[in-house]
Amino acid sequence: MLDWWAIQFAHVALLSRNSMSSGLGATKVNEGPIVGTHHGSPMILSALPSASSVRIELLFLESEGLDSKSHKVPTTSVPDVLIMEGGADVLIVGAGPSGLMLANWLARCNVSFRIIDKKPNQTLSGHADGLQCRTLEVIESFGFIDQILKIANPLVEVCLWGPSPDGHIQRNYRLANTAKGVSYIEKIFSEELKRVSGVSVERSIEPISLQIDRETIHDPHSKPIHVQLMHRRADGSIYNEDIQVKYLIGCDGAHSWVRRTLGIPMIGESSESVWGVVDTMCVSDFPDIRCCCTVQSSASGTLKIIPREKGIVRFYVQLRQYSPVADTMDRSSVTSSEIIEAARNILKPYSLVVHREMIGQTVYRVGQRLAPRFSSFNNRVLLSGDACHSHSPKVGQGMNVSMMDAYNLGWKIAQTLNGTITSSVLDTYEYERRKIAEDLLDLDRKIAPLISQKISPEDAVESTRNLRKVFKSGKVFMSGVGVIYGPSMLTIDHSDALHLARHVHPGRRIDSHQVLCQADARPWNVHELMPSDGRWRIVILAGDVREVEQMEKINRLGSLFNGENGLVTNVTPRECRLDSVVQVLTIHRSPRKEVELVHFPSTLCPPFDYEKIFVDDESYLKGHGQAYEGFGVHLHGESIT
Ligand SMILES: Cc1cc2nc3c(=O)[nH]c(=O)nc-3n(C[C@H](O)[C@H](O)[C@H](O)COP(=O)(O)OP(=O)(O)OC[C@H]3O[C@@H](n4cnc5c(N)ncnc54)[C@H](O)[C@@H]3O)c2cc1C
Repeated sequence: MLDWWAIQFAHVALLSRNSMSSGLGATKVNEGPIVGTHHGSPMILSALPSASSVRIELLFLESEGLDSKSHKVPTTSVPDVLIMEGGADVLIVGAGPSGLMLANWLARCNVSFRIIDKKPNQTLSGHADGLQCRTLEVIESFGFIDQILKIANPLVEVCLWGPSPDGHIQRNYRLANTAKGVSYIEKIFSEELKRVSGVSVERSIEPISLQIDRETIHDPHSKPIHVQLMHRRADGSIYNEDIQVKYLIGCDGAHSWVRRTLGIPMIGESSESVWGVVDTMCVSDFPDIRCCCTVQSSASGTLKIIPREKGIVRFYVQLRQYSPVADTMDRSSVTSSEIIEAARNILKPYSLVVHREMIGQTVYRVGQRLAPRFSSFNNRVLLSGDACHSHSPKVGQGMNVSMMDAYNLGWKIAQTLNGTITSSVLDTYEYERRKIAEDLLDLDRKIAPLISQKISPEDAVESTRNLRKVFKSGKVFMSGVGVIYGPSMLTIDHSDALHLARHVHPGRRIDSHQVLCQADARPWNVHELMPSDGRWRIVILAGDVREVEQMEKINRLGSLFNGENGLVTNVTPRECRLDSVVQVLTIHRSPRKEVELVHFPSTLCPPFDYEKIFVDDESYLKGHGQAYEGFGVHLHGESIT
């Protein structure tokens, strides 16, 4: 019997060339002024409709703090204005982890884009560290994991320390960890971007106004987003540039200009915690100074230790709670000595001698907040990363989740632009990523009080037990590999077909197992067969193809996908390779030496293409991958999954 799960998936996921539609709905624009607050300063968000467009401006009524200076166009000099038309389809604002992930993805999908950042220089040693499993897998699928692994510090063990009965601290628990600590994420991603596409981050540039052309917003070929950019020259003078793009993506961090310009608030707690961060070269007799630690003392608060490459140790100390309403926090008042002294007090009676600070101290405020919308104007303007969610660093997720937002979004924009899929696929971005952001905030809410609270020696055991429980239950989520996206136009939860591959869950990334290339016996991990290059993939688990009948079914399946009028053929532009939109891979489970490549139909194994047919069998040097067991597929029987 032939099972049709994969075929149904293909039907739903792909649109035939004849049935593409833009999928854009009607736009609704706020036409009256909306009064809101921004860091305590009243502001008016005015949406001024004109015949065909709506111009959005932020008018700040009071003097702004540090973060919002960028909104003001200096009035002392009259800037030159450069009008740029044509050019890029996508403008990415912000070159942090999220913006750079998006840029790297779009570059691999041949999308024309620009990426700008208001900072004149790249962050030398990035803010966040701790790349989780799934993020590492994605980087591997981009093909530059080696650069990361060369400099990464594996964070193999997490240690939880709490107060001891003698009033000091003691290690209460150790658990395994899989993250890798890397400081230079932004640098590596920028270099990789340049290598792959020749595109560099354009610096000292920020957007100052946004205008949306409502009349053309439904036209997939139009560029309805008009953005005015302000460039700062090295001599301090400025000039403006007007550009038009199809999509604007706000990857501009927690104080996102794009989000605020759209009038999207951040909803959540009104208070924020203030963290002091310092990277050091230090000497300490604290036994876990090279492990990822959370240290809670009864008298002096909480410390996080992250060992970094080349012997660097990063300390995170929660300094105090901060109320944005009162806005009393002066970041410059916190010195590195204060942060180090706080760390030293927490570690007592262990010693801490700091020989060198690597990047000086940073103080950052963070609250648990979520934007009620991740996009606007029919998904023409979207938010990614800290721009739409923020939380404490205690679960080490900010960078990872921000990058995975961009990974989720990148291919959808690319395929919408190249017409492979209807633009309504962009609705799945918020649907899928909002749930992850909510789960993350939930986890953060559970962990944050357990870490921040002052605990007495009597409560230490109970507190560590609770912390351990939360860490353990959140481990798979934190690694990123446990993420499951719910049913949508992309994911069908086909419960009556799940028995065919019990461990392949729709909406979740497929596990990687070793298989062998039928042609040359080379072992591959399944993920290596699926680089992030913007193609869809169908994997046929063909079973035992020694049976003539089974091979006939494979033959029919090959024609159904790649035959003259096949599903894949129909969605592939005639001038392109047949596997340029959808690649069909076959993994069979017969003994490799009892099957020949030539027995497979040319629809699945085209001439000169030796990397389409694989087998789950014993390798010469690396054992058996047991991929079928890993996928939960029956070893015997006649099914094809
Ligand atoms: C000191 C520090 C330590 C941290 N440690 C951790 C940690 O250990 N673990 C963790 O998970 N998270 C940590 N975080 C949080 C983590 O860094 C963020 O979650 C992550 O960087 C978010 O990535 P992003 O790209 O969304 O935003 P960001 O990294 O904030 O990047 C935004 C970029 O946009 C640019 N930008 C902003 N506004 C504009 C504008 N108007 N125009 C043009 N460009 C603009 C900024 O210059 C910046 O380069 C830390 C943050 C800080 C500040």
